[in-house]
Amino acid sequence: MTEDGLPTLAAGGFSTWLAAMLRALGGAAGSEVPCGGCTACCTSSQFVHVGPDETETLARIPPELLFPAPRLPSGNMVLGYDADGHCPMLIDNRCSIYEHRPRTCRTYDCRVFAATGVEIDGDEQVAIAERVRRWRFDFPTDDDRRDHVAVLAAARFVRRRKAALPEGVGPANATQQAVLAIEMHEAFIGRHDMTDGDAVVDDDHELIRAVLRARSGT
Ligand code: SF4
Repeated sequence: MTEDGLPTLAAGGFSTWLAAMLRALGGAAGSEVPCGGCTACCTSSQFVHVGPDETETLARIPPELLFPAPRLPSGNMVLGYDADGHCPMLIDNRCSIYEHRPRTCRTYDCRVFAATGVEIDGDEQVAIAERVRRWRFDFPTDDDRRDHVAVLAAARFVRRRKAALPEGVGPANATQQAVLAIEMHEAFIGRHDMTDGDAVVDDDHELIRAVLRARSGT
C-alpha cells in the first residue's frame, strides 16, 4: 500500500525496464506499459506532439483538432484537449486510434517519474501523479541498484543545471526532464579507481556537455 492507502503496482526490474525504455525512446519499439485500464495520461490536459512523418496518425485525426507545434519546423503538429482536459481521440474511455496513436503516446511511460523522482507539475496532472506514487521497481541485482543510483544522479543534475543546458536540449517540462535524465544516466556511471567496480561519478561538467552535444548532434 502507498502512504495514501492505494495498492502499489509492480513496475518490473529496474534495469530491464530501463533498457526497454531506452529502446522505446530510440524508436526501436513502443513502450509496454501495464496501464491496466488507466487513462490518466489521456485525460490530463496534455498536448500531444505528432511528427510530420506520422502520416498514418495524421490521416486519422480530424484536421480541426491539430495545430502547428510551437518552436518546431513546419509540419510538426500538436493534438490538443477538450474542456475537461481529455484527448479528443479518447472515446468511451478508449483510444479510438490506438493502432495508429501518435509516437508520443507510444513512448509515454509514467514510470519515468517513479524512476527519476522528478515531480509532476500542474494541477491537471494529479491523476498521473497518483499513478506514479503507486509504482514500485524491483532491484534483483547490483546492476539494478547501480542503474537506479545513476538515473537519480542524472535527474539531480538535470534539475540543478537545466537552465544552463544548450537550447533545444534543456527540458521544457517535467516529462522531458525525466526523459533527459534517463537518456544521459550512463554518463553518471564510472569506474572506481580503488575497487575497479562500478561507481556513480560526480557530475563532471565537461563529460556531461559532451553527452549533450552528442545528443543534439552538434
Ligand atoms: S491519441 Fe490516444 S493514446 Fe494518445 S492521448 Fe489521445 S487517446 Fe490517449
